[in-house]
Formats: sequence, C-alpha cells, structure tokens
Amino acid sequence: MADKFDVIVIGAGPGGYVAAIRAAQLGLKTACVEKWIGKEGNVVHGGTCLNVGCIPSKALLEASHKFVEAQHDFDDMGIQASDVTMDVKKMMARKDKIVKNLTGGIAGLFKANGVTALEGAGKVLSGKQVEVSKDGQSAVYEADHIVIASGSVPVEIPPTPLTEGLIVDSTGALEFQETPKRLGVIGAGVIGLELGSVWNRLGSEVTVLEAMDSFLPMVDSAIAKETQKLLKKQGMDIKLGARVTGSEVKGDEVVVKYTDAKGEQEQTFDKLIVCVGRRPYTQGLLGDDAGVKLDERGFIFVDDQCRTSVPGVYAIGDVVRGPMLAHKASEEGIMVADIIAGHKAEMNYDAIPSVIYTFPEVAWVGMTEQDAKAQGIEVKTGAFPFAASGRAMANNATEGQAKIIADAETDRILGMHIVGQHAGEMIAQGVIAMEFGSSAEDLALTCYAHPTMSEAVHEAALAVEGHAIHMANRKKRK
Ligand code: FAD
Ligand code: AMP
Repeated sequence: MADKFDVIVIGAGPGGYVAAIRAAQLGLKTACVEKWIGKEGNVVHGGTCLNVGCIPSKALLEASHKFVEAQHDFDDMGIQASDVTMDVKKMMARKDKIVKNLTGGIAGLFKANGVTALEGAGKVLSGKQVEVSKDGQSAVYEADHIVIASGSVPVEIPPTPLTEGLIVDSTGALEFQETPKRLGVIGAGVIGLELGSVWNRLGSEVTVLEAMDSFLPMVDSAIAKETQKLLKKQGMDIKLGARVTGSEVKGDEVVVKYTDAKGEQEQTFDKLIVCVGRRPYTQGLLGDDAGVKLDERGFIFVDDQCRTSVPGVYAIGDVVRGPMLAHKASEEGIMVADIIAGHKAEMNYDAIPSVIYTFPEVAWVGMTEQDAKAQGIEVKTGAFPFAASGRAMANNATEGQAKIIADAETDRILGMHIVGQHAGEMIAQGVIAMEFGSSAEDLALTCYAHPTMSEAVHEAALAVEGHAIHMANRKKRK
C-alpha cells in the first residue's frame, strides 16, 4: 500500500482541481489524480474546460469577433483597416499557447497549496481505496474521503460517426487549420452555437440542424427570439425541427440526411460538427465492488450535497446531475471540500448563471417568464433594449435587451435574462441579487455608474414597475 491521504480527488478539471486546492487549504492531506494526455504527450491538468472547452473556444470566439469588427465596424468609427485577413493557423497557435499557460499553471497551484499530483487513471475500489495506473504500472492509495470529478465526454450519434477531420466533435472543431466553405453543425445548443459562430465569422456558410422545434428553450422566449434573429442576420442558417438521420462521406465532402416538416432532406458540407450534448464519463472509474451507484442516465447518483451512495465518497461536476458548467463544477468542489473539513456548506442550485459567448452574448440566471407561468407563479417583468442605452451606442452594440422576471406579489427577483454585449459579465448582478433574495426594487434603487451597459439592468428593474427613465413609461408613478 502506498501513501494514505485525507482526500483523494479523481480528475483535475474545474471541479476536481478546485476541490483539491480547497481541501489542501483547509489543512487536509490531499492528492489529485489525472490521466489527460496533452498535445505534448505529458499528463496535463484542467480537464475539458481548459484543454478543449471553455478556454480554447473563448480564445477562438474573441479572435473571430475582432476579425468581424475590423472588417465591418471599424470603418464606421473612422478607422481605416482595408484588406483585413485572418491567419487561421496563427489564431490556433495563440489558442494553444493560452491553453498551455493555464494548464501548466495548475501544477504551480497544486505545488503552492501542497496538493500531491498523481498521474494516471484512477479507479475507485472498495474500502475507500484508489488504484492509480499508468504505463502498465499501478499503485493503490487509501483515503478517508474520495471526490470523483471525472467529467464528461461528447455524445456521438449513429447517423454521423466521427470521421477524421471531416465529421468532428467539439474538440475537432477547435482544431480546423483552415476555414471550411460549407460547415454543418448538428445541435443548436450552447456549444453548437458558439462553434458555429466562430467559423461563420471567419467566412464559412454555416447551417445548424436542430431536432427540436424550439430555439434555446432554457432561455426566456423574448431573449431567445431576439438571439435567433441576430444570429440569422449574421448569416447563420438555423434550421429547427431538422433531425439528422444519416450521413455519407463522399471524398472530401459529407452529405447529411435529415428530416423536417417537409420530409426527407439532404445537404452537403465540407466539414460537419456534431454538438448533440455531452454524457457523464465513468469509463474504467469504478471497481466492481466500489458500490458507487449510477442513476438511470449514467450520472453518478448524488444527494444535494454531492454525497454518493458510499459514505465518504463524493462526486461533483459534469459526472453528476445538474448543468454541465465549469463554475457549477468548481462550486460543488468547494462545497464538498468544506463538508469534508467539517464545515457547513451548501449550494444554491437556483442561482447558477449560464452564458452563450456568441455576439452578442446571451446570459441568464433563474426562471424564464414561461417557466414561472407554467408553475402557476404570477410574475411582473421589466425589459430594456440596448438600443436605448448611450453606452451601447458608443460601443456600437445596440442589439439586444435585458429582462427581469419578478414575483408579482413579493417583487423578489426570480430570473434575469440578457442578450447583449458583455451579457456574461452583467449577469453576475442577477446572480448576486438572487443570492441575497433581492427585490426588483432593490436593483431599481441601486446607483449604477454611467455610462455602462449595466444601466440596462437598472432600467429593466425600474421597468418592472413601469418606471424606466429612458423608455416610454407604461404607468404613472403614484
Ligand atoms: P472535466 O473538465 O471534464 O474534467 C474531468 C477530468 O477528469 C479530465 O481531466 C479527465 O481526464 C479526468 N478523468 C476522468 N476519469 C479519470 C480517471 N479515471 N482517472 C484520472 N482522471 C480522470 N462551461 C462553462 O461553464 N463555460 C463555458 O464557456 C464552457 N464552454 C465549453 C465549450 C466547449 C467546447 C465544451 C466542450 C465545454 C464547455 N463548457 C463550458 C463545459 C465545461 O467544460 C464543463 O462543464 C467542465 O469542464 C466540467 O468540469 P469537470 O471538472 O466536472 O470535468
Ligand atoms: P446541448 O445538449 O445543449 O449541447 O444541445 C444539443 C442539441 O442537439 C439539442 O438541442 C438536441 O435537440 C440536438 N440534437 C440531438 N440529436 C440531434 C439530431 N439527430 N439531429 C439534430 N439535432 C439533434
């Protein structure tokens, strides 16, 4: 038997590495096991988020957005930038450098906090033991507590088996070395829209095939509708009610078959990205007698505080129920480390923000107006368009709106949904307001700096009572 730890964390994504650091900060002897092999052939930390998720996708979104601005928006501001070109290989090299910096940084954080990094594949055995295997060698470690943070992997669907460089998942779409002429994206979820946007901005003709009839059903319908209109205006062809049923690779092209209201259809693409969701990753993770139960969808079964069916074994992040988001994984990691260290900790799952990093960004927290109505909650809402914001005009970003959904009786904020430039930054106001149980009036009575995009949130809060200042008022103040 090798070393014994207070806590062994399996997986060093944003769930696992954060849990490990917090546990070590709380004085627990902590190890973190990771098996991800990076581009240079060594084990790297950071999981999906840093290697092939949040960070590389945002590096490409930022670069492609600047390209569009330079081509189309600079002239209006008096900036002459003719013959703007994009060097895709250089954009990719910058993205790889950012990933390398960040993933390498975690090793430094582990060292600074006294976390032991164990390289290899971790397997939970009975009696809170963890076997770590690498290159045919294995060692067994014992722990008082185990935290599973093994994450998720892309879902593959039988109609479109992945084909090297032609039919790819989200990871493959972060590696194109040139802009495809005709790009198909299956799935109008968060990842599909972000990756579709990157390549649309760089000149691809993008078609998004989405099986559902509704667009972004988790977002307030007014915001979702406006987002769909804006993406369409940018040239993305989003086909709803289009279920992909098959594909055929013909040389350098792929013919995709789908069914929609009109019947069988087909369309030819130079590249196809399959973005139909992610599934929990538990391959090789649980020994036969580990006793850790999965739910009916393959997620590790946990209670509200991430305890699995085995006392002392916890699971967090994408491998358990709830939204597949990096910050949700990290918060669960902190909660679990606190609980292990003997502190009281819980999470407010009603106040987890989501962001789609398109341009403009879409961000939301809490209920939509349609959710509230479906639950029989009477609501009042306030919305404010960025078209009426001075800062938005100065920024050349007048598209979108901010909307607040409040309980009609108590005025408590139930949700905030925004489409607009920097919506991902602005949504923190809604999260904090909900964490503190604020009313719409609390935001309305708050002094916002001028001129800022956030003033739209202030005006939306004022609009809940019909008293927005920079918009035709609906009600007379009593
Ligand atoms: P992961 O990040 O998947 O990490 C799990 C780690 O566990 C991996 O490193 C894996 O190698 C390791 N592991 C698994 N099994 C074992 C084992 N047996 N032994 C040792 N190690 C093991 N989320 C956001 O919040 N914002 C975004 O902008 C965003 N953008 C995204 C863009 C893309 C293209 C993708 C694909 C995802 C994006 N996500 C985003 C989702 C986000 O990446 C995930 O929610 C997040 O990474 C989940 O964290 P995790 O720690 O649970 O799992
Ligand atoms: P998300 O889970 O948010 O990443 O979104 C994935 C999207 O892919 C969902 O909106 C699904 O409806 C969609 N989807 C799944 N299978 C298919 C399919 N065969 N054809 C088209 N869209 C699909």
